Amino acid sequence: MAQVHPLIKSELLPPGPPERRHLISIADLTRDDVERLLGLARTFSRSLEREVKKLPTLRGRTVVNLFYESSTRTSSSFELAAKRLSADVMSIKATGSAVDKGESLKDTALTIGAYDPDVVVIRHPHIGAPGLVARYTAAHVVNAGDGTHQHPTQALLDLFTIEEELGGIEGLHVAIVGDVLHSRVARSNIQALTLMGARVTVVGPPPLIPRGIEVLGCEVSYSIDAVRAADVVYVLRMQRERMLEGANYVPSLREYSARWGVTADRVRPGQKVMHPGPMNRGVEIDPEVADAADALIERQVRAGLVVRMAVLYDLLTHGPIEVKVAEIEEVA
Ligand code: ASP
Repeated sequence: MAQVHPLIKSELLPPGPPERRHLISIADLTRDDVERLLGLARTFSRSLEREVKKLPTLRGRTVVNLFYESSTRTSSSFELAAKRLSADVMSIKATGSAVDKGESLKDTALTIGAYDPDVVVIRHPHIGAPGLVARYTAAHVVNAGDGTHQHPTQALLDLFTIEEELGGIEGLHVAIVGDVLHSRVARSNIQALTLMGARVTVVGPPPLIPRGIEVLGCEVSYSIDAVRAADVVYVLRMQRERMLEGANYVPSLREYSARWGVTADRVRPGQKVMHPGPMNRGVEIDPEVADAADALIERQVRAGLVVRMAVLYDLLTHGPIEVKVAEIEEVA
């Protein structure tokens, strides 16, 4: 006979706000969450205009950066963001650590957990690694890129840049062009941009566009001419390190740049151009476009700092639910 499950009082209550202790995917966020984080980032951006840039906000907190893949922008900006908020920071790279000696991610997480960090920022080549760290430590976990899956803080800093430069996101048309197949940035950005009311078209050769990507809410075009219609052209790096050996995604890099490279004659004057970095100049983007006044690439890097300050602050002040903006404005 089927068991009758007795109702308990809490089941009769409306569900409370979900517990969002980590930032693992853009799918964890609501539009309100994104708006709050962008608002916080704007506040921090103003605070950085002062001569003394350090805020006492996270004094006594510990942030551990755990990077299993190379990184320049993401690792440096998380480190600086934590320092600007007066947290103690420890940065561990896979090379030169016990990971070299074969330590599993679970054991590394348990080891780091013994220091009671408040936040662990992790980049890892495998999808799901941040979730594993969240299981084995009591810290808030921030995904700084897991394989081809997600890179949520990149998408947030891109939203911040677009909002600052174009005055808003709702109704904009963004073309994401290139190696979508291997790009966690593309996945996070499609979700983040559509969440905020933008229209997204992914553009690239069929072997580099994952089948079924439309379920994320974007359109697909296999013609490079499609970028002309967009307000923003978001160029992706050709991720050679993730391409399977022997697989022929494109005939050659030369052929790729001739047919799909973002060159000056393929963009309109006034069209904004973005790239998450690192750039392969002359492959997916022509140096003339990368260095033009309409390129927002350096502004993206600048946005990375304030957005990561906002994410750390938000997680450490009662999770993303109750943030006291007035408190930061007071010290800013
Ligand atoms: N830096 C970005 C990432 O880590 C983009 C790239 O590597 O092409 O995903």
